[in-house]
Amino acid sequence: MEVRFWGTRGSLPTPGPQTVRFGGNTVCVEVRTGAGHVFIFDCGTGARPLGDALTAQAPVSASILFSHTHWDHIQGFPFFTPAFDPRNTIALYGPQGGRSLHETLARQMELSYFPVALNQLPATLSYTDLGEGAHTVGGARIVAQYLNHPAVTLGYRVEADGAAVVYACDHEPFGGALWRSDTATGRLESILHEGDRRHARFLAGADLVIHDAQYTPEEYRARKNWGHSPFEYVVELACSAGVKRLALTHHDPSHDDAAVAEIERHARAVAERRHAPLEVFCAFEGARVLLDAPGGAPAAGPAAGPAPPAAIASGARVLIVDDDPVMRRLTRGAIENDGYVLTEAANGREALERIKRETPDLVILDFVMPELDGLGVLRVLRADPATVTLPVLLVTSQADEDSTRAGFEVGATDYLTKPFSSPQLSARVRACLARASRP
Ligand SMILES: [Zn+2]
Ligand SMILES: [Zn+2]
Repeated sequence: MEVRFWGTRGSLPTPGPQTVRFGGNTVCVEVRTGAGHVFIFDCGTGARPLGDALTAQAPVSASILFSHTHWDHIQGFPFFTPAFDPRNTIALYGPQGGRSLHETLARQMELSYFPVALNQLPATLSYTDLGEGAHTVGGARIVAQYLNHPAVTLGYRVEADGAAVVYACDHEPFGGALWRSDTATGRLESILHEGDRRHARFLAGADLVIHDAQYTPEEYRARKNWGHSPFEYVVELACSAGVKRLALTHHDPSHDDAAVAEIERHARAVAERRHAPLEVFCAFEGARVLLDAPGGAPAAGPAAGPAPPAAIASGARVLIVDDDPVMRRLTRGAIENDGYVLTEAANGREALERIKRETPDLVILDFVMPELDGLGVLRVLRADPATVTLPVLLVTSQADEDSTRAGFEVGATDYLTKPFSSPQLSARVRACLARASRP
């Protein structure tokens, strides 16, 4: 596989003399397999120069995999010239969320914003909304996994030619801390939050990981819940997961070349501290990585075409449990447009009664409640065969290590700490439901 970076900036294009080294175009990565298939990860403004390069090679057959549809990941698509050539075939994939990928892209190209409508593009375009899991796309095995971002967002792992590449933008840590303090740091088993451990497994053994690393650890402290990672977290995870090469990307618009170079220097120091044979660099426009790793990745799986998205969302029954009426109202407000049937319980006892009676598909459970708290409710649920696998999203202001561990040990499906934003809660609820409904 050959990987080429066409856009490395996050959030907003940042052209100018201060960003010539690492680039000002928003995220876009090309991955070409030995069989000649072109994969494109996200269509930030880097998709424009990529499109020009591909136009010279028409007819082109390409697959575009969108991580999500925030502006910096789709803004280049209307300027992607291969879409304007009838000889080309382009398959577009994005996470199954509220709106379909087709509708979101079409809205971006409404006449108020752009002179050509999506359905007027002459290339043969197809649209697929993807769920989590393994898919076969363009002859390669693609594994999709939800990231932690205030929008339903997928990371992608491409396995082809005996090598594996992971693309993970945008993402931030699930847990307040990465490591459990009672175990040796640096190992997968020592990761505190189940979500971070799942993410590390997703990266495991990859020949190249391309990962959001928008912030320094200091910046991240003031930007929690914005959906981006501090570089240190990314390097630590990659070391523990046995990753061979790590490209840090989605550079912050406020970081000039000197700031990005400084991040690269510090990131390499983190890998050295771990004594990991990890090669770390900050991605720059025009960077090429050639991957030739026989036996370096799991064999391609079976399945023809993308697996159908899990049948979720519409009509799923969600029970909100919180003793604080304001929190119940906020929680309801965050997910009320997602098509679920919502009910509420004001305490642990009422929650257990309702769960028995209403058999919800998911419970959003407050940790701290008088009398029977969230952990108590979870213990009862996990002891009953009827609810042992019921997805329970524990929401809490208890961000400390002991509480996080207790939550997972008792059987929480996910653990989300307050304060969180509405889109964050919405994305995490969707991920929990999608996982639960997977065959
Ligand atoms: Zn982004
Ligand atoms: Zn985003």
